[in-house]
Amino acid sequence: MENKPIARKFRLLSQLMELHEENPFKTKSIANAAFKIDKLPFSVAGKTQEELEKVDGIGKSTAAKVIELLQTGTITELQELLAKTPEGIVEMMGIKGIGPKKIAIIWKDLGIENIGELYYACNENRLVEAKGFGFKTQEEIKKVIEFRMAGNGKFLYAQVDHEAHELLDEIRGIFPDALKHIAGEVRRRNDIISELVIVVGSIDQQIAFDALATSTLLNNVTLNGNHISGELNNGLLVDIICVERSQYYKELFLNTGSEEHVEAVLKRITGELEAPESEEIIYEKANLQWMPPELREGTDFIDVAIHNRLPTLITLNDLKGALHNHSTWSDGVNTLEEMAVYCRDELKLEYLGISDHSKSAFYAKGLSIERVLQQHEEIDHLNKKLDGFHIFKGIESDILNDGSLDYPDEILARFDFIVASIHSNLKMTEEKATTRLIKAIENPYTTILGHPTGRLLLSRKGYDIDYKKVIDACAANNVIIEINANPLRLDLDWRWHQYAISKGVMLSINPDAHRNSGFHDMKYGVIAARKGGLAKEHCLNALPLAEIKDLFEKKKGAVSA
Ligand SMILES: [Zn+2]
Ligand SMILES: [Zn+2]
Repeated sequence: MENKPIARKFRLLSQLMELHEENPFKTKSIANAAFKIDKLPFSVAGKTQEELEKVDGIGKSTAAKVIELLQTGTITELQELLAKTPEGIVEMMGIKGIGPKKIAIIWKDLGIENIGELYYACNENRLVEAKGFGFKTQEEIKKVIEFRMAGNGKFLYAQVDHEAHELLDEIRGIFPDALKHIAGEVRRRNDIISELVIVVGSIDQQIAFDALATSTLLNNVTLNGNHISGELNNGLLVDIICVERSQYYKELFLNTGSEEHVEAVLKRITGELEAPESEEIIYEKANLQWMPPELREGTDFIDVAIHNRLPTLITLNDLKGALHNHSTWSDGVNTLEEMAVYCRDELKLEYLGISDHSKSAFYAKGLSIERVLQQHEEIDHLNKKLDGFHIFKGIESDILNDGSLDYPDEILARFDFIVASIHSNLKMTEEKATTRLIKAIENPYTTILGHPTGRLLLSRKGYDIDYKKVIDACAANNVIIEINANPLRLDLDWRWHQYAISKGVMLSINPDAHRNSGFHDMKYGVIAARKGGLAKEHCLNALPLAEIKDLFEKKKGAVSA
């Protein structure tokens, strides 16, 4: 047994040697040694170097490494290789099904340096065309990463949305007549979920409790008071709370808002809550406007509700178009025409803003100047053909290290709108990131700031930025900020939406779709926007076609003036 950790170190050493293309014979012999050590019928710990040398398949140099490892806890060669490999790449070695050869391509050809970026690349279909990969490998890698992500007990909202409603349906099947609702983080529509709470109100609490407690809905069930706790198959923790019907709305209220929110509301109520017949009554008693669950986080919106001024939250139906999308011109899966027709006929939208990657994004087939001009010809042609529907000419222009955009002005001037985003050199100080972003925001051609922090929820922390400075710069330069609707991004974070709105900055709910199904991510963007308190008046792509055309033209007019 004790040989396992030693064998693991040797395996890592052989993987790193292969990754860095060291001598294949030496690499092979280290890999063999790892296998051998793992299978030895005795522990290597008590052996001398001479004894180990005599073991078949180990030999002199391996024996010396084992002794070094036992004495110092590491191997010099391993340390040297680790020093020149990004941490995220080393972590990737632990993923089943991706060997060093594939990791070398992921790292060196695709520019991906950690598991979060790899997952994102799978979602963007970027692995399909890489050497030695294919659709099947990509999907396998995606699955393994999802499994790992679930391992820490946290999930993206999009990963539990479906399961949560399925569980509620099953409970409905058991008790058609009971009151039941999702509460907690899921009802508040948090971007990261660690527990699913469901409140059930029944005329006979005990019968309901017993039936649910003995049902097969959950794994690893534990009972505690009126709580039934367990797990779903994907590992998500579930807490079902069973109460008497008369206590249902009170319990639902208590288990929906954050602690801070619930406490602040209760403080405003004189006397007992008793048995309210709806949540509305609770807010009424507190002299507050009823608050949508999304807004029940801190106390900021309570101050607004006191004055009866809560925003009318945006809905998916308010969106009139989809901006920031990628077609087959860069790394997307569907053609421009397929995407436009899908938006027009399936989603009933009025316009599509296409913004393929710009020329610096080599890993994503970014467009050369020549291809930009060709794409514009195709768009002109499609706009004639599509009758009433409009495609806007955009680009997702990389923000280079110094904050400049990667086309000359005369090319930038040809687009209807420009999304400026950072995709490279993500490791920077807050000061550097803020300056880099502000330089791009001050570029007169920038229309929208794309995914401002580069974060990938649960897998890659974004670079730090000075939010206020960045938002203030957008206000000063008439730049719109994106709420990237990809459930991994949801960037700009909802906590900053009110600040942006207060500065007069518009937000845009952008799907960043790389295929037609990606447009449906707008649902998650809307959820994030609602949490931020966004009304349609402050949302760019809630504008009808004529108005957004006008807005783009005015912005362009300001450059030439
Ligand atoms: Zn991007
Ligand atoms: Zn994009």
